[in-house]
This record gives sequence, structure tokens and C-alpha cells, in this order.
Amino acid sequence: MKITVLGCAGGVGGPLLRTTSLRVDDDILVDAGTGAADLSLEDMAKIDHVLLTHAHLDHICALPLILDSVGAMRTQALTVHALPEVIQALRQHIFNHHIWPDFSRIPSAAAPYLVFSPLTLGQTLSLGQRRFTALPADHAVPACGYAMTSPSGQTLVFSGDTGPCPAFWQAVNQQPQVVALIIETAFPNAEHQLALAAKHLCPLQLAGELQQLRHPTPIYITHLKPGAAGLTMQEVQQAASAHAPQALSPGQQFLLD
Ligand SMILES: [Zn+2]
Ligand SMILES: [Zn+2]
Repeated sequence: MKITVLGCAGGVGGPLLRTTSLRVDDDILVDAGTGAADLSLEDMAKIDHVLLTHAHLDHICALPLILDSVGAMRTQALTVHALPEVIQALRQHIFNHHIWPDFSRIPSAAAPYLVFSPLTLGQTLSLGQRRFTALPADHAVPACGYAMTSPSGQTLVFSGDTGPCPAFWQAVNQQPQVVALIIETAFPNAEHQLALAAKHLCPLQLAGELQQLRHPTPIYITHLKPGAAGLTMQEVQQAASAHAPQALSPGQQFLLD
């Protein structure tokens, strides 16, 4: 099971800053931020499943464009898996014929380009031999993280966007064989109040959160705000030095047995 970082920035700007998207093998995306738009047409057409953490634009904006670009090249619908509230938001605010066509009814209601499949927190979705468990998160809108588990049982955990969330750590601690944890730190400490209001993490909050992690695990930081990424990582490495966190980087790959 190969997980590739297509985008991991908290915003856009030039070739290195792309918003959140992870590619799992060649047929699954976890989030579809601007990073997913870098895939070639051929690679986009191979995506059969998109798992969304939440409906914020930086995590979904490539999805409508991908469907439009490769829908006609595919022989089956692409399935979007997400919490019911996320699906509702996409139907109401994106695929509504105002912002974008409703590809869950195009080219026909019987054979559309897009199918929605609701997920509940704690549910494990099996796609082939790979398993995806929706983990609790606490964000400004309904959101989840994912535990992605390989056929042999190795797991990569992705927090999605979240503020402090004890239930997330309870769920992570129950996962066997976590080989890496990708967690957001969207703001530097100076923007602590903004992090609280927007339900994101700043480095001091991250350090408090990591104290709830029971098993030593390599930590990778995502969703750093453009312009403050260097400062935020310095603060992360100071506040959470025991965990030696590293910044997630575009193109980085995780290979799970
Ligand atoms: Zn968000
Ligand atoms: Zn975000």
C-alpha cells in the first residue's frame, strides 16, 4: 500500500504549495485539494474512490474539476465517501447546477459520473484489502480523520483538520501498528486565538495533544499556513521536541506492508 502526498499546504502559491490531497495506490484519494489537480489525465481517470475529511474548499476543490475532466473516460462512477453532513454540503453548495453541474445525475441518473456513499465515525470501509476507518475530529464544520490500514495491518493515521480532540486520541491509541501520524498545525502560536476560533491547532496545542499519544510514532505536520510555515515548524519542534516532528512534504511517500 503506497500513500503519496499530492498536497499538504494550508494554502496555494507556486509549485510547492498545494492544498490537501493524499493518493493511496493508484485508485484512491483522501481529500481532493489542489494537489490532486496535478495528476495527469490518465492518473485522474484511475481514481475510483475519494474519501473526504470535510467539505472545506481546500480539501474538495479539485473534485468537481476531476469529474468534469475524466468522467467521460471512465466506465464506472467515482464514489465519494464522507460523513452525511459533508455529502449534504457538497450537494447543496457545489453540485447544485449553480456552482457546478450535479454529476450525481449526469450524464444520467442511472449511470452518473459520481456516487455518494455516507460514512459514520468509527466505521471501517474496506476497499480491496485496504481498510479506512473514520476517526473523530473537532473542526469548524463536521469533519473526520482517517486511519488507513494495509493488508498486513500497518496503519497511517491522518488527522484531517481538527482542533484539540480527546476522542481522536482515544481512537488512535486503539489502532494497532501505527507506523506514522500526519497531523495538522495550521497556525503559529501568535495566532492561537484564530486557531481556537477556526478549530485548528497551533504548536502549543499540538504539544498538548501529542501527550495523549500512547505509543511512540513518527509525527508529520501538515496544513502549515503559507508565509508562516518556517516559524510554525520551529515552534512545533520546540513545543513537541520529544516527538521530533517533521514537516510533511509534497511528493513524500509512505510504503505500508
Ligand atoms: Zn477545514
Ligand atoms: Zn483545511
